[in-house]
Amino acid sequence: MERAAKFKPEKKHLPKRRPSHHSLYDTRFWRESSKRFLEQNQNCACGCGHLSEVTDHIVPHRGDEVLFWDRSNWQPLAKKCHDLKSLGER
Ligand SMILES: [Zn+2]
Repeated sequence: MERAAKFKPEKKHLPKRRPSHHSLYDTRFWRESSKRFLEQNQNCACGCGHLSEVTDHIVPHRGDEVLFWDRSNWQPLAKKCHDLKSLGER
């Protein structure tokens, strides 16, 4: 039926609820830089001994592009450690 196809969600139709600065993460440059950073820094910075999975901003950038791209503000974290840190920043 045509109806099913009509209601298939498409990216451009999804509501933009995310804060705009999240789009910084959607850039190819961020993905590639982050991936390389994690390859060079394979252990979680908190010392838990887990492998790093995400690039975290030590100082929350809150949309500030200078902070966002400043590699001295990056640290490698395991996902669960990053999630814990993010909770603390709320
Ligand atoms: Zn950790």
